[in-house]
Amino acid sequence: MTTENWGAIYKEMGATPVINATGSVTLLGGSTPVAEVKEAMDAADSAFIPLIELEQVAGDRIAEMLGVPAAYITSGAGSALTLMTAAFMAGTDDDKIEQLPDTTGMPNEMLIQTRQRYWYDRCLELAGAKLVEFGDENGTTEDDLRNAISDRTAGVHYVVYEQMPADPNVLTLEQVIEIAHAAGKPVSVDAAGQIYPLENFGKYVKMGADFQCIAAKYMGAPHSTGFALGTKEVIDAMGHHSFIGYETRRIRGIGRPHKIDRQEIVGVVAAVRRWMTLNHEERLDFAEGQSEAIIKPLKEIPGVTAELNTNIKAHQPFGVFVSVDPDIVGFTNDDLVDKLKDGEPSIWTRVQDGRLVLHVFGLGEGEAELVGNAIAAAVKG
Ligand SMILES: *Cc1c(COP(=O)(O)O)cnc(C)c1O
Repeated sequence: MTTENWGAIYKEMGATPVINATGSVTLLGGSTPVAEVKEAMDAADSAFIPLIELEQVAGDRIAEMLGVPAAYITSGAGSALTLMTAAFMAGTDDDKIEQLPDTTGMPNEMLIQTRQRYWYDRCLELAGAKLVEFGDENGTTEDDLRNAISDRTAGVHYVVYEQMPADPNVLTLEQVIEIAHAAGKPVSVDAAGQIYPLENFGKYVKMGADFQCIAAKYMGAPHSTGFALGTKEVIDAMGHHSFIGYETRRIRGIGRPHKIDRQEIVGVVAAVRRWMTLNHEERLDFAEGQSEAIIKPLKEIPGVTAELNTNIKAHQPFGVFVSVDPDIVGFTNDDLVDKLKDGEPSIWTRVQDGRLVLHVFGLGEGEAELVGNAIAAAVKG
């Protein structure tokens, strides 16, 4: 909304741009690369570079900044998850690398707590691994994990969402690491959004996990990028399975379609450098101000509650919870989502746990006010 030509590039092609009040969601395009990242990406155009060397030094720079043993840039956190399973199953054995996704003769089970099944666990299966649940809907015991581990186990997967209340009915990461390592099995952690507070950024590998992924879409890098942090052994093996290993080593691994370009690789390094040196107080103040701007026009409208989300952990600080009372306004929260989507301009929001959960992550200048006013207008009819 900031400029006259807002969304013009899409309109020219016949598509309809939208205002994103949902946050960093892949279906809307996830991220808008920041200036420092775009500059680094442009600078990468000046020369070609062997990608195997670039990946190595880029991973080294990220690992140094975060204080972890090693890092590897991938085409998203999802790709890091898939390459990790390939590394867990086949290591650096070229015959096995070329055999995947046929896992005959390899440990091929990725263990996951039933209560931790989640949207992205599909990425753990694409290299040929099988997801095997332990525990049940009610919870997990240490013995559930001990009994689930066998010769077929490739690794144990764990998911962290520190911005949400901890689930008391799952094993903690500490418990999982202890039990898995006692059995000689590696542990992977999906920590895609755990980039703030900074002490959480890379924390799970420092706790002893063999791998964690980060989605660089959450920190101003291109939406299509992410990275793995981990032990030197796991990160080295991931490189063997990657598209770069495929082309440089002429070993045909499953990673070939997970391609990224040199511009993206330097863009991710720039994004991590910026994130580690950013004034996060300013970043948080800005997000809080945007959230308050959404709330302002909604105060004292009968039948509407708009409440500040005070979370500052992970990748999307603040935001607003909005709810309408159908008895007063004549429609439901789901109807409100539809009304906003059908408006001009179209505003995308979503209902989670019975209320609209708005995030300011994807809002441009002036768009927070616009969203608040559009909700007020929808309610007032
Ligand atoms: C976004 C996300 C992913 C996938 O990351 P991509 O970079 O989009 O592939 C995986 N896990 C979690 C928890 C995420 O939030």
